[in-house]
Amino acid sequence: MTLEGTNTYLYGADPCVVIDPGSEDPSHLDAIRSAALGRGGIGLVLLTHSHGDHTAGADQLDAEVVLPSGGEIHHGLRALATPGHAEDHVCFLTGDGVCFSGDLVLGLGSTIVPPGGNSLAAFMASLALLQEQEIELIAPGHGPWITDPATKLAEYVEHRQMRERRILKALSAGERSRASLLATVWDDIPIELLPMAAMAMEAHLEKLKAEGRLPDALEA
Ligand SMILES: [Zn+2]
Repeated sequence: MTLEGTNTYLYGADPCVVIDPGSEDPSHLDAIRSAALGRGGIGLVLLTHSHGDHTAGADQLDAEVVLPSGGEIHHGLRALATPGHAEDHVCFLTGDGVCFSGDLVLGLGSTIVPPGGNSLAAFMASLALLQEQEIELIAPGHGPWITDPATKLAEYVEHRQMRERRILKALSAGERSRASLLATVWDDIPIELLPMAAMAMEAHLEKLKAEGRLPDALEA
């Protein structure tokens, strides 16, 4: 989801690195090029993950494009494997406490974790991994900078745990219909967000199933 557009970052100089070039809109790409001119040009384009709203303009910047694996270091940025929102998702850490978080953590709202491949378990592990890092600032893929990373990460963890607790409570009360589960557990969101909540719920159910905590008799 693009929310209000994808944040593109220029890091370092002589040459600089472009993180998540985002849209292929010509005026956006021109803005990146001219900002990069003041930084000795573009040495490399780094991607946090393969979603189009982060990558579309990448091939038009006349520089190598890399979506690294965890552990790789490019121009002083260390890639941390953080699957969940996307299987190939990485965050980039500077040596001085900045994390370019892509869509793992957003400046506003909550990240989508689509079901498949036990993505929610991966997402929770990614949040835990980020909590272990020394981070003072998160520069997210969407929305404003996060100046209190520890609080934001704790909120993200708690938010998913809250949904999980509510799902488990409804299940143990005998609820077996997906529609009722959705209505019960996501009773606090606007109706137009229910389709997204239904996806979130599938990711939760997948995680609970993998953990052996889901009753067999769940209805479609
Ligand atoms: Zn994305």
